[in-house]
Amino acid sequence: MSSIKSPERIIPPAAKNAVEKNTLYLVGTPIGNLSDISERALKVLSEVDFIAAEDTRSSGILLSHYGIKKPMVSYFEHNKRERGEMIVSRIENGESCALITDAGMPAISDPGEDIVKLCAKKNVRVSVIPGPCAAVSALCVSGLFTAKFVFEGFLPAAKSDRRSVLDSIKDEKRTIILYEAPHKLRRTLDDIYASLGDRKISLCRELTKINEEIIRTSIKGAIDYYAENEPRGEYVLILEGASAEELESRAFWANMSIEEHVEYYISMGQIKNDAIKSAAHDRGVAKSEIYGKIMKK
Ligand code: SAM
Repeated sequence: MSSIKSPERIIPPAAKNAVEKNTLYLVGTPIGNLSDISERALKVLSEVDFIAAEDTRSSGILLSHYGIKKPMVSYFEHNKRERGEMIVSRIENGESCALITDAGMPAISDPGEDIVKLCAKKNVRVSVIPGPCAAVSALCVSGLFTAKFVFEGFLPAAKSDRRSVLDSIKDEKRTIILYEAPHKLRRTLDDIYASLGDRKISLCRELTKINEEIIRTSIKGAIDYYAENEPRGEYVLILEGASAEELESRAFWANMSIEEHVEYYISMGQIKNDAIKSAAHDRGVAKSEIYGKIMKK
């Protein structure tokens, strides 16, 4: 009979959990519920020489909840260049540091990315203490396909940049994850609808908090809902990828000019205004854009 080798223990021995000098620890912290923190995260936060925090005030609340007192330095978007250099040089000189960002996993849509790049460049050891990530948490409860997905983070603020990002994901078949702030939600939904047309969306709001809410609807449904309701709290948007039918239907007009595209719908019995609307929808552009091009001729 062949002997079965026992698998490695899931909980590593104490030596593996030792906090090392000359190391940057990326520590995942809760995205809304103070209890969502690992034993190992608390050990590292208690034992490192200092903590770099994106928001020292909110991190102070977390640390004091767990009775952790540590010297803290701030590290955020507007001081990340010089502060990153300073933190990494302290680590090179023998200290250990834990990086905690506003919430969730450092380096996902926050300045953690830059300090990890700097460590990689300077050959400084980086170790990860995994924790919650809003993107993955939202994907898991979205009710949409989770096997393949892409993360787009925040859409750019400038209209033309937003447009080019949305155009670049129009044919994306995998599920798409976006971050959004409440005051920009309505505009973002409008822009998504204009570029991608209607499809399923799950709006995951205030995850792990008292007001946690998952709204599973269509993009048009979300636009209508938020015309009546004020967006509140933090959002992750999970968008269905482009369906095979959508890609096929986009292909049928791909080689047509705008005029031919509108003529096609007219030949199918639509009045001109409706034909313009249909062509605009196929192309994921505003009706006025098609109208303007046709009128110029
Ligand atoms: N590093 C973080 C992570 O691992 O998820 C993300 C940081 S990013 C600056 C903050 C964005 O994450 C928010 O604007 C929101 O889109 C999303 N987010 C964070 N916490 C959330 C929560 N509890 N519920 C829904 N979205 C959340």
